Order: sequence, then structure tokens, then C-alpha cells
Amino acid sequence: MNTKTNQTKYKVLIVDDDKLYRETLVAMLSDTYLCAVAADATTVLKACQSQIAPDLILLDFRLQKESGIEVCQQLQKCRFAKDIPVVFVTAEESSDVQVDCWKAGASDFVTKPVVCNTLIQRIKHQLEIRDREQALEQQIMRDGLTGLKNRQYLKNEVPALIKQLRRDGDNLSVLMIDIDDFKKYNDTEGHIKGDECIRKVAAALEDRANRPLDSVVRYGGEEFLVILPRTDLRGARRVAQDMCRQVEKMLITHETSAYGVVTISVGVASSTNTRATKFGDLVRQADEALYKGKSCGKNCVVYNSSPKPPRRIVPDVANMRWAICQD
Ligand code: GH3
Ligand code: MG
Ligand code: MG
Repeated sequence: MNTKTNQTKYKVLIVDDDKLYRETLVAMLSDTYLCAVAADATTVLKACQSQIAPDLILLDFRLQKESGIEVCQQLQKCRFAKDIPVVFVTAEESSDVQVDCWKAGASDFVTKPVVCNTLIQRIKHQLEIRDREQALEQQIMRDGLTGLKNRQYLKNEVPALIKQLRRDGDNLSVLMIDIDDFKKYNDTEGHIKGDECIRKVAAALEDRANRPLDSVVRYGGEEFLVILPRTDLRGARRVAQDMCRQVEKMLITHETSAYGVVTISVGVASSTNTRATKFGDLVRQADEALYKGKSCGKNCVVYNSSPKPPRRIVPDVANMRWAICQD
């Protein structure tokens, strides 16, 4: 399962203060894995926070500056490192030492002198477990119908994102989006076409939320929450208008809508000071703006530019609608 091509080989970080031993382990593993080496906790933690974080750490029980147990405990406390499996390499066989390793968060351990094939098999096994866990976690955070992120994603991932934005003093905007008159759509077209429509709208939204940190979440039945980190009100309004336009442009026939096609309404809320704003409050503001959009015609973007009253923007699709009428 975890044999990969050269470019995508798993990365194993070998942590040992003995240069000769590091080199021996590299020689054992480098045909199967991409190997990097480190001799102390600081280097290990730095590696785990880098773009090329290791997939597994092979950790010597006795290092010069600190014990392997201490390094493992530090890894457990680090958000970027805590899910990376740690395999201890130890000459100690006492059961107390083994218990200490498990308690510190070890995934497994091998005893010195190391048998090459056993080491490779143990690493392989740990990587398989990690892959399965990651796949499962991804699945839990995805919505089955659309493949978008779901509310579990909000719960698991957003707190850390907000913390980071606060630390960096960055903006955050959110869009609350709801398909207009969707009950009527279901009533005329049926639930299967309704599901298909939700999938198409989801794809259009995801298509427009194109920065790496942007995320589109299926928030409810026909409701979506778009999170736009490092985006101010102006940028968020633009994304919202584009999304509105994009959905209308798909020309999904909706006979009982005033627009003749499926449309969405979008509420926008934005914070320039994430330190003082709670994520939940921002979502609530976006929801209120959306509600206003619903009560004044739908197929629009509404944003709160407090203390001024909310503004409503209708996407510039008048010509297109005329074209639909001509059809
Ligand atoms: P508004 O323009 O005010 O948003 O009106 P609406 O009809 O879209 O809103 P309402 O909340 O009254 O109805 C939402 C409908 O969305 C009702 C429900 O049947 C439908 N819906 C929710 N989830 C799903 C789903 O997963 N699949 C399908 N086909 N329909 C869904
Ligand atoms: Mg709704
Ligand atoms: Mg709706």
C-alpha cells in the first residue's frame, strides 16, 4: 500500500545524535523512503512545521541534549507534529522504558541492533495506519452529496485557522449562501433533480473560491458557508457577486422562480480585526444579511457596512436574463 514512486516516496526523519548510526539507518532505508536526519528536538520541530514535514519519525531513545521521551512529548504538544507517527529506536529492553515510550506517544519501537527488514516492515505498517486514519478523517469532514467540506470540518479545523489569523492580524470574511425558492424547485422537479441542482451549485461555488485557504462548506440542506481568510469586505463582495453570477449563468431551469432559473442569495460579513471578532458572530452577521437579501427580491448579494444600512447588489446579468426570455 505504501510503496511509492521516487517523487512521492514517504519521508522518514531519522533522529539520532550519533552520526555513524544516523548514516547506518539512512543506508538501510534510503531505497524505500526519502530520508532526512536530525540530532535534537529543535531541528525535529522545525522540520515538522515545514512544507516538507516527515511522514514518520524514527527517534533514538537517548539523545545528547535531551531524552527521546522528552522529544516525543514535545511533538505531542505541537499541532503540526502530533499526528506524525514516532517509532523509537532503543537499546533498552526493560519494560519500564517501553512503558515510558508508549506513554510519551510512541506508535511503535524497534530494538538495537536493528534488523533492516524488520525496521522497514514496522515503518510500512505505521504508515499504513496513518494513511487509513487520514483518509477516514477526510471522509468525516466531507459532505456525501456534494463532496464539499461539512460542519465537522468547521468544528475540527476552523478554530486553528482563526487562531492563526488572529496571530497574524489578518482579515476574515464569510459568505452565507442559500439557493432561492428551492422548496418550489423540489416540488416541480423532484428530489433527484433537486440533489443534482445542489451538486451543480456546490461545484460552481467551489470553482470560484479559488485561493488555497478559501473553503466552501455545505452548512445545511441548500445552504453554504464560504470562508475567505485574508479577504476584506471589498474582496468578499466581489467573490459573492461572481458566485451569484456563476450560478445564474448555469441556466438551470426553475419554472416557479421569478428569474426563470436557479439563483442564490448571498449574505456577506467581514472583519478587519479578527482579534475582536468571534467567528460565530461573523456567521450570524452573514446570516442576517442573507435574510435581508431574501426579503428584498433574492438573487442578490447583501453586506453589512455598519453603521450604514445593509447594501444590496444585484449581479449584472440583466442582458443574460433578457436572452433567456428570448429563448
Ligand atoms: P428561500 O428562497 O427563502 O431560501 O426559499 P426556499 O424554498 O429555498 O427555502 P426553504 O427553507 O423553505 O426550503 C428549503 C428546501 O430545500 C426544503 C428542502 O426540501 C430542500 N432541501 C434541503 N436539503 C435538500 C437536499 O439534500 N436535497 C434536496 N433535493 N432538497 C433539499
Ligand atoms: Mg435554506
Ligand atoms: Mg433556500
